[in-house]
Amino acid sequence: MVAFQGDVSEHVSAAEQIFGKGAVSEIRSAEDVSTCQGLILPGGESTTIGRLLAQRGVAAAIVEAVGRGVPLLATCAGLVLVSRGVDQGDVVPLGLMDITVNRNAFGSQRESFEACLEVKGFDRPYRAVFIRAPVIDRCGPCVEVLAMFEGRTVAAREGPVLALAFHPELTEDLRFHRLFREMVEAI
Ligand code: GLN
Repeated sequence: MVAFQGDVSEHVSAAEQIFGKGAVSEIRSAEDVSTCQGLILPGGESTTIGRLLAQRGVAAAIVEAVGRGVPLLATCAGLVLVSRGVDQGDVVPLGLMDITVNRNAFGSQRESFEACLEVKGFDRPYRAVFIRAPVIDRCGPCVEVLAMFEGRTVAAREGPVLALAFHPELTEDLRFHRLFREMVEAI
């Protein structure tokens, strides 16, 4: 769990429910990354998280780990950070996924809302919590779209990277964390 800024504690408790207590640790340095079998990049402020990732050498360590096939769950600001390009602001993305992102797609009119999504592979709808959510506005050919909202892509996967525009750690429904565990167990 990358623990510089954002909703780290909520993600830790959701991940502990799925992976077990003691299996989840907080990442603040490049060395912390090297021992992880799965990585989570939480929501928060993508500019701030991105700057700290670069300053502490964690960005390079994450890129190296994902290159080895280590699964990464990226949510909200995390989705912005794994992209190849961001429409606005001074975010320097990691380029781990062949997507470009509209950072605050829903604007201040609709800062926070919930919506029911049909998700590929889920047998019933998923209620997603969106907070100043980004959307994916371009997907490369190897990106699998998992969910759309009002015609815009809000969940996608490319290889070891699972990126969600919403906050799976803020609901009781932990199916995305379970999907992430399956990705971790598969390597
Ligand atoms: N849109 C925000 C950003 O780009 C992310 C919002 C969030 O993580 N809840 O930083």
